[in-house]
Amino acid sequence: MDDCHRYRVEPGSRPRLADLDPAEHEGATGKREAKARIEATGRRLRELQYLLYAENRRSLLVCLQALDAGGKDGTIRHVLGYMNPQGCRVHAFRVPNEEEAARDFLWRVHRRTPRRGEVAIFNRSHYEDVLVARVHGLVPKAVWSRRYAAINEFERLLHENGTHILKFFLHISKEEQLRRFRKRLEDPGRQWKISEADYEERRYWDDYQLAYEDALHHCSTAHAPWYVIPADHKWYRNLAVSQILLQTLEGLQLQLPPPRVDLEAIRRRYHRELADKDGRED
Ligand code: AMP
Ligand code: MG
Repeated sequence: MDDCHRYRVEPGSRPRLADLDPAEHEGATGKREAKARIEATGRRLRELQYLLYAENRRSLLVCLQALDAGGKDGTIRHVLGYMNPQGCRVHAFRVPNEEEAARDFLWRVHRRTPRRGEVAIFNRSHYEDVLVARVHGLVPKAVWSRRYAAINEFERLLHENGTHILKFFLHISKEEQLRRFRKRLEDPGRQWKISEADYEERRYWDDYQLAYEDALHHCSTAHAPWYVIPADHKWYRNLAVSQILLQTLEGLQLQLPPPRVDLEAIRRRYHRELADKDGRED
């Protein structure tokens, strides 16, 4: 786990998802210890986010992709929830609305990219346009197959503007998905989430795996890497994502900016009155 960059998809390589075990939990000692570590990492993430905000030069974009019940919401709650909401925004992308569908596929995501100093989390992303759009033939192949290059250009543009990009594919097994659907079925608090469409979508499982493999292959770049996270164990998924975030943010060498004013002059000009008063009262 200390080298969680092994989950990174090397640029140009083509991962075979069938060969990557979604139930892997290698090197981690167990659930309880993982939770303690996620907590400690979360506190550090919050400090680093503060530095990012104070520095106000760069930003972070986290894209979360998974099949239904893959754990996007859980990852946001348990890992990204440590971030200060002031300076961190979550955007969920659903079926494009009329405004969005009337424009190019990157329009709606571009306007949600993080400002300098901020973190943006995408719950689904522009990748849906080479995933669901491809699997369901929402656009012809001639259209979706050109989108990989458009995505790479777009992400390069963001990177050149100081946005660091991390993309996570939460990899679950088909059985684990069904298990999670069953839990929803048995939990009155979550029955509202059930849709028959989610079950129907399982028929396209293999098509989705292939579409994901192509997206990982074409769009994992040095400046915007993809990570395939074993996600059958929720605690391991959270641990892996939190460690990758930590290593990435630590790697930015974030620094508090120096004061923009002469502190001594400020002290003399504005604080003498109080100093005299406090002095007298001592
Ligand atoms: P959920 O995340 O469960 O709220 O579901 C959102 C739904 O929106 C999923 O079924 C996605 O596949 C779908 N969706 C997201 N982006 C797109 C897109 N660009 N084109 C078509 N469907 C999309
Ligand atoms: Mg859903």
